[in-house]
Amino acid sequence: MTEKIKDEFPILQQHVYEKPLIYLDNAATTQKPASVLTAVTEYYQTINSNVHRGVHHLSVLATEAYEDTRTTIQQFIGAKHSHEIVFTRGTTEAINLVANGFANTILKKDDEIIVSTMEHHSNIVPWQLAAERCGAKLKVIPIDENGEIDPIAYQNLFSPKTKIVAITHVSNVLGTINPIKDMIKTAHEHQVPILIDGAQGIKSTKVNVQDLDCDFYCFSGHKIYAPMGIGILYGKEKYLEQLPPYQCGGEMIKNVSFEKTTFNTLPFKFEAGTPNVGGAIGLKAAIDFILKIGQDQLLAHDNMLLKYTEEKMQEIEGIRFIGQAKDKAAVISFLLDKNHPADVGTLLDTMGIAVRTGHHCAEPLMNRYQIPGTVRVSLAVYNTKNEIDKLVEALKKIKIMLS
Ligand code: PMP
Repeated sequence: MTEKIKDEFPILQQHVYEKPLIYLDNAATTQKPASVLTAVTEYYQTINSNVHRGVHHLSVLATEAYEDTRTTIQQFIGAKHSHEIVFTRGTTEAINLVANGFANTILKKDDEIIVSTMEHHSNIVPWQLAAERCGAKLKVIPIDENGEIDPIAYQNLFSPKTKIVAITHVSNVLGTINPIKDMIKTAHEHQVPILIDGAQGIKSTKVNVQDLDCDFYCFSGHKIYAPMGIGILYGKEKYLEQLPPYQCGGEMIKNVSFEKTTFNTLPFKFEAGTPNVGGAIGLKAAIDFILKIGQDQLLAHDNMLLKYTEEKMQEIEGIRFIGQAKDKAAVISFLLDKNHPADVGTLLDTMGIAVRTGHHCAEPLMNRYQIPGTVRVSLAVYNTKNEIDKLVEALKKIKIMLS
């Protein structure tokens, strides 16, 4: 990608501590192109109104735009039906919706839920709470030193008590792209449904839920150039039909009386209250932005820059990479000598370089490697080789400063 793409991102034109901003924290959230910002502003300036309920002009237009996003997402991830696309606040809410539904209907005492060592807290804690409520338990897939899942160990975790597998598509710390198609097949061989945490996977791979055959796929708009506060739960119709509503209120009902309430059809059963219409419209603009560049081009750029970054960083003596899977997304976690990640991150910040440090909401993974945290560089469409050269220069300086 060229500097021209960066020009489309107003936030990236600024200086931080008088240095041009180099934003390398894309696994936490991506920046938003002008087209997305304009789409959201235009929505509020021209058609803002509540969806599905109004007969007036603005409400009809807002509803059309909102539902148009649902169809766009359906096509983007290859879902069979648009009613299998549920709007949520993000990945976290999507996983909570499913975990709660399982706790309320399916999970019983001594049942088992399979997760992996590399999960984000968002794909651990909802299952842990669901398990506690039902007397069920978590079983954890181990990973090797490179950050890869052992398929045999995964196989061996299944038992007649396994009720669901919840696994990340791509690790937000290690960058590992898990072989989810195989993992989904294994789960189905045991007649167990599987949820994929796609918070990182949606940006780092081309997702087709029908081809993957996953039962649930969750992601957040803000990781793919869309606004915060909007995300997606994809679920196969048969599972969404089976799960009870997550939140209750307006929109998700068919009829309400004080004696009995009946629920709306899919996907509205899961969309209680006024939704984030502006966010949904921003999400559609973000998908348009991605498709205009082309997903293959985006992935090729990320891959090229990942290889370049890893190679350049190897020039620095004392770098230890955490996560060296064969199939890897553009996320690089590392330690520099014995320095605390926070010290390295703070010094990078003074040089205008934004990275993330800490446990990245994956404390069990940190325990696996027996480290307090990592420095994490994560790349996106607007990052350039020139920025990586500056990062490497900065790390060399920091190494001397901290020695
Ligand atoms: N899972 C993974 C793998 C993530 O990287 C994140 C975000 N860091 C989440 C879940 C949670 O996403 P959100 O905060 O957007 O709900």
